[in-house]
Amino acid sequence: MTIKRKLAAAYRVESGKGFRLKKYDPGDTAGLREEDAQEHLQHSISQMEEMQNKLYAQDRWSLLLIFQAMDAAGKDGAIKHVLSGVNPQGCDVHSFKVPSEEELDHDYLWRSVKRLPERGKIGIFNRSYYEEVLVVRVHPEVLSREKMPPQLIGKDLWQERFQDIRHFEKYLAHNGTVIRKFFLHLSKGEQKQRFLARLDEPEKNWKFSAADVREREYWDEYMTAYEDLIRNTATKHSPWYVIPADHKWFTRLVVASVIVETLESLKLQYPRVSAEQRKALQAARKELDRKSA
Ligand code: AMP
Ligand code: MG
Repeated sequence: MTIKRKLAAAYRVESGKGFRLKKYDPGDTAGLREEDAQEHLQHSISQMEEMQNKLYAQDRWSLLLIFQAMDAAGKDGAIKHVLSGVNPQGCDVHSFKVPSEEELDHDYLWRSVKRLPERGKIGIFNRSYYEEVLVVRVHPEVLSREKMPPQLIGKDLWQERFQDIRHFEKYLAHNGTVIRKFFLHLSKGEQKQRFLARLDEPEKNWKFSAADVREREYWDEYMTAYEDLIRNTATKHSPWYVIPADHKWFTRLVVASVIVETLESLKLQYPRVSAEQRKALQAARKELDRKSA
């Protein structure tokens, strides 16, 4: 088995039954060293470039990559580095923030549906509808702003949302959207170190937010919410990857491995030209040759 396949398999969760977040170590590096990782990462990036061309040319599948994590886990950096080789024209990134007034006037999947990748494209969700079972669950006042009819807010709300999400993702799978979901799993101690670096290093000051520090108080509630959502939404067609995030180089290597493995599994090919089309191409060549200039 190649290292890519091994890494992708090690952190994949495709059935949530009995899933325990505790079993995953945020500091894990699978025995690899940073120097070795660099070479593997570069190789993955070049493979991705080639396969993205085929994905685009073929214009059948789309790939949706969902990134979720606590603050400072490295989502932005992972997206930037891992996708550095892909053609920007075949890729759309969207960062989901606190919903706008217009968005709150709709069901919670509405804004995500508008951002789904077209056939042939890679779509990246930096945060996603999973916030609806994370921040909204941890902070009940966020739910109260969602303008839901009160009769519909009952004890089964979170189970209903998990079911909505499972059905939505299955529907997308049935239509050719391949989904891969990444939870960048950071330790609380490493998050503190990264926040301190944002205070200490002037070029990182802009990233610092006092609100993020206050959110640390809810760490355990978030971990419980993550565990529960992974249990309820990990499926074969739409798996979660619980990726160790205390070492950025390792996070990027695993994310890249998963993307490469996923694209490989699609067995992408450039579209074949039919005999008729080939004739047309030959005729076009003749015409170009005939006209001297
Ligand atoms: P950031 O991407 O870290 O700059 O911040 C985005 C913020 O938007 C985070 O605090 C998220 O929790 C919040 N957010 C994203 N989606 C939702 C949502 N559906 N409902 C409420 N807050 C959200
Ligand atoms: Mg933030």
